[in-house]
Amino acid sequence: MNILVVNAGSSSLKSSLFLTVEGRVEATPIWQAQVDFTYKPGEALIQTRRRGGGWEPFPSTSPEGGIGQLAPLFQSLWQGEGSLLAEVAEINGVGHRVVHGGSLYRQPTLITPEVERAIEQLIPLAPAHNPAALAGIRLLSQLLPGIPQVAVFDTAFHQQMPLAAALYPLPYAWAEQGIRRYGFHGINHEHCARRAAEILNRPLEELRLITCHLGNGCSLAAIRGGRSVDTTMGYTPLEGLMMGSRSGSVDPGILIHQLRQGMSVDELDRILNRESGLKGVSGLSSDMRVVLEAMEAGHVRAELAFDLFVHRLRGQIGAMLMSLDRLDALVFSGGIGENSAPVRAAACADLGFLGIQIDPVLNAGSPRNCDISTCDAPVRVLVISAQEDWAIATACQSLLQGE
Ligand code: ADP
Repeated sequence: MNILVVNAGSSSLKSSLFLTVEGRVEATPIWQAQVDFTYKPGEALIQTRRRGGGWEPFPSTSPEGGIGQLAPLFQSLWQGEGSLLAEVAEINGVGHRVVHGGSLYRQPTLITPEVERAIEQLIPLAPAHNPAALAGIRLLSQLLPGIPQVAVFDTAFHQQMPLAAALYPLPYAWAEQGIRRYGFHGINHEHCARRAAEILNRPLEELRLITCHLGNGCSLAAIRGGRSVDTTMGYTPLEGLMMGSRSGSVDPGILIHQLRQGMSVDELDRILNRESGLKGVSGLSSDMRVVLEAMEAGHVRAELAFDLFVHRLRGQIGAMLMSLDRLDALVFSGGIGENSAPVRAAACADLGFLGIQIDPVLNAGSPRNCDISTCDAPVRVLVISAQEDWAIATACQSLLQGE
């Protein structure tokens, strides 16, 4: 079975082709593509690579922009000399990452015209993301008619959170209008939970976990027996932790104040989403690597940005802890979580009283899918690679095989 995964964002697209061997989707794709739509005005940067090879440019063919111009990219998989597949029918299913599934979708779902309409109706909740996912679904349905397409939702994993975690203390009528906490990054939080069970060699059903997805966007989940019982993102991916350029949670009174001072809604939106977080505080960059380098060179506001990031991370880890009755493991994932030993060290510093103690040597040694806690620490600290595309392919394959 070959599963094509399409992860379409507002300004980029990633796609991978996975092979299934003996009923399991192989973790390394046989083909990958990445597209940056912001490369140059009217020109996308498209690159592909085959398993074992390096990235190679793929000609950007049309000035029309958007996902529509990627038809030749996908067709190159089964057309032309040296194509990977002999015919289009060798693709057995397509898995699409869809950021927002609202309250409706709790599972990966076979895409029908009705599901497509629902994703469209949810655009107001994810204005930057759901339109891109829809465009991807439409393009691939056109290119691969009759081949099942599956939507895997970023919100789905959190849909069974208890109401106390899912609602805001706002007028109840707002909740009835859909203003509630949805949570995001669910595909990776769920992947981390499953992988943690494998690494710890314990059944997922008995585990209590806190998973930290720390990338450009950052969120935590409290996971009890494989179910998300609380998370830090909410109605939008702006709530919760401090992020690369997003503020995370702030006093809503500040927003009222700025609006009263005459700031436009669009400007406020831009500042909270693009000019805050690490970038806003450091004044340098939303990239944690740049902040860390500047901090080492003595840049005062870079240090402040780092300290604020860690302070908020620790505060929210504490909040997640309160939704659990004990903690078996704390999991770090995402670009920062996987690669930044200083962030992990600062997040876990002096938490011995909670049973959290990491081994500095293991932490500094580029850990991947392994345990970095000291051997006698009661709570394990794991570093787990985010493999969203593989998780989507696996979900798609399970659904298509009726598991
Ligand atoms: P996205 O959320 O867009 O998928 P990623 O998960 O790739 O993003 O995470 C991007 C973040 O990871 C950036 O802040 C980047 O600086 C950070 N990052 C990547 N490598 C390192 C590293 N070696 N040390 C610290 N931060 C890193």
